[in-house]
Amino acid sequence: MNLLDLDKSGLESLMAELGQPGYRAGQIFDWLHKKRATSLDEMTNLPAALRQKLAGMAHVGKLEVLRHQQAGDGTVKLLLELKDGETVETVFMVHRHGNSLCISTQVGCRMGCAFCASTLSGLARNLTPGEMLAQVYAAEAFTGKPVQSIVLMGMGEPLDNLDNVLAFLRLLSHPDGFGMSLRHVSLSTCGVVPGIRELARHKLGLTLSVSLHAADDETRGALMPINRKYPIAELLAACDDYFEATGRRISYEYALIAGVNDDAAHAHALCRLLGGRGCHVNLIPINRVEEGGFSRSDRVRIQQFCAILNKNQLTATVRRELGGDIDAACGQLRRRSRREQGRD
Ligand code: SAH
Repeated sequence: MNLLDLDKSGLESLMAELGQPGYRAGQIFDWLHKKRATSLDEMTNLPAALRQKLAGMAHVGKLEVLRHQQAGDGTVKLLLELKDGETVETVFMVHRHGNSLCISTQVGCRMGCAFCASTLSGLARNLTPGEMLAQVYAAEAFTGKPVQSIVLMGMGEPLDNLDNVLAFLRLLSHPDGFGMSLRHVSLSTCGVVPGIRELARHKLGLTLSVSLHAADDETRGALMPINRKYPIAELLAACDDYFEATGRRISYEYALIAGVNDDAAHAHALCRLLGGRGCHVNLIPINRVEEGGFSRSDRVRIQQFCAILNKNQLTATVRRELGGDIDAACGQLRRRSRREQGRD
């Protein structure tokens, strides 16, 4: 059992099972999330007998840094090893408004987007809440800097692992633990409509980002298999209901791919689709994935696309590129490491 997977009530039941007073749960929670203990031995205010008993059944799921890459702009990409030998990527970025961390929610992904490296070898497994949180703790320990905002935009589809993601968010925002306000969290989805509807019911303060990437079903369906299950009209209806329920504006991601979705007609189609929503569009110059065969639009075309949106009252910005001199696209570092081990 990974102690980082347990919330306070989980720890309380564990202590009750072991015949311990309830306040031990608070002590352990404090060691894990405030003092960042990585072993039971460090928890010196617990009786030795309890520590010994716990050692036979539980551990602190610290993640080991298997590889790291540091870019000139302060971006640090970590390849982290999980207890079963699987690996995930986590990226630490330095912005003017603070440090953000891009974390993974699954090992691999089963969504099959044509341009994405994370999905090339399918889904290995879901991450547990503690494994998501341990990425934050590993990044702070490695960089020595605080993580001030979090984006769930690494490997995996968060809404394909929603229960664990929700448990992670509860741990992350617990006032006796890391205590991050969910206002500083963004969750990105490829468009899993039932997941968006369930998330809306929780009325969390986070920002929902939706990976749109095309304004018509034909183009989107060719890039993203999820669109064949939940076409654009259904996706946008769920997004509108999400806004209605939470009062939080949606952010739409649009990765520009040369010759696929980047001409003026596409920009106008996007304006017609999203017009009047008061949402934000994030334009992403696509990162080339060796196996994908897509290439990015040139700088001028990206600026022209952005200008058309802005002229039509659609707030759009081009995502500033960080970590350009290291493997920037999700899943690329893990992929290279697996290839070197002969696993892909
Ligand atoms: N599964 C979620 C979150 C992880 S992907 C989602 O799809 O939103 C995070 C973002 O990176 C998504 O917008 C995704 O479409 C985008 N992305 C994936 N591969 C990319 C690439 N090669 N270049 C640019 N963006 C990419």
